[in-house]
Amino acid sequence: MKVVVVVGGVGGARFLQGVKHALGPGHEVTALVNTGDDVWLHGLRICPDLDTCMYTLGGGIDTERGWGRTGETWTVKDELAAYDAGSEWFGLGDRDIATHLVRTRMLRAGYPLSAVTEALCARWRPGVTLLPMSDDRVETHVVVDDPDSGERTAIHFQEWWIRHRAALPAHSIVPVGAEESAPAPGVLDAVAGADVVLFAPSNPVVSVGTVLAVPGVRDALAKTEAPVVGVSPIVENRPVRGMADACLTAIGVDTTAEAVGRHYGSRRNDGLLDGWLVHTGDPAEVPDVEVRAVPLLMSDVDATADMVRAAFAVGGVSGE
Ligand code: GDP
Ligand code: CA
Repeated sequence: MKVVVVVGGVGGARFLQGVKHALGPGHEVTALVNTGDDVWLHGLRICPDLDTCMYTLGGGIDTERGWGRTGETWTVKDELAAYDAGSEWFGLGDRDIATHLVRTRMLRAGYPLSAVTEALCARWRPGVTLLPMSDDRVETHVVVDDPDSGERTAIHFQEWWIRHRAALPAHSIVPVGAEESAPAPGVLDAVAGADVVLFAPSNPVVSVGTVLAVPGVRDALAKTEAPVVGVSPIVENRPVRGMADACLTAIGVDTTAEAVGRHYGSRRNDGLLDGWLVHTGDPAEVPDVEVRAVPLLMSDVDATADMVRAAFAVGGVSGE
């Protein structure tokens, strides 16, 4: 079976573990990974969601933190702080920096991000093809009122998310560069050739939404013969972790599983979904979408695999 999964970072990576577990070997899983969080810091190209997926599936993740390398040390970060080199709010560990040195060197030598990702994955063997949504530079920015001057300004998503903990009200969230970007090689073909497409319970605005903002992706999803099934990241009217509610508020969507399902909409009405999984007990009615309620907490890989099987069932594919 060919499974395509649209993902962000932590939520996406955990869901992909469940997809692998539910399918076993002999199947093809392709993840379309958000790169709108990517940023240049200290001369290094940082791709948080790609690395979270790669480390999680490759066994290199710090599972408690949810991002970065296990057994990490922070000498370089401390030295940068001693220089007052800026961006001190961003955590870059010593081990992680090696990944960034390799990536940045390859990008500077002219390799596209998709080729760089493939090279990095040769070490980590994630068992899933990780495709950046685009090889082009797309960086999500958030329009806020500057806390000091009060003036309206756009800051990088990472600064809003990590430095300000998404506490500055967002006027809008813009994937800068998306309109001029092209899907990375393999992205559209994967959607066209899929047996089922899943939206991980990733952030609907800045993870899944950003992948959808790459021209051609929505169209490919509309045309594929595969069923498209989404999984809600909102459980009991709250994000399970993180601050997705702040992103949803910025685009005028309520923090409920129903509102997110309606935001994605039905494929029969120019939307995206055939099926929508919500957490047991969460009410959700989405016109022309088959909604099913099952436990949606990724507490361990078996629970996550059960979620994936439920998504397959809603899509009418067996997964055996
Ligand atoms: P990020 O890029 O690291 O922020 O991660 P993603 O965008 O891939 O996923 C973030 C989303 O995952 C958050 O909105 C969470 O609500 C959601 N999430 C995390 N853990 C769970 C879980 O166990 N169940 C569900 N349904 N959603 C989860
Ligand atoms: Ca992310």
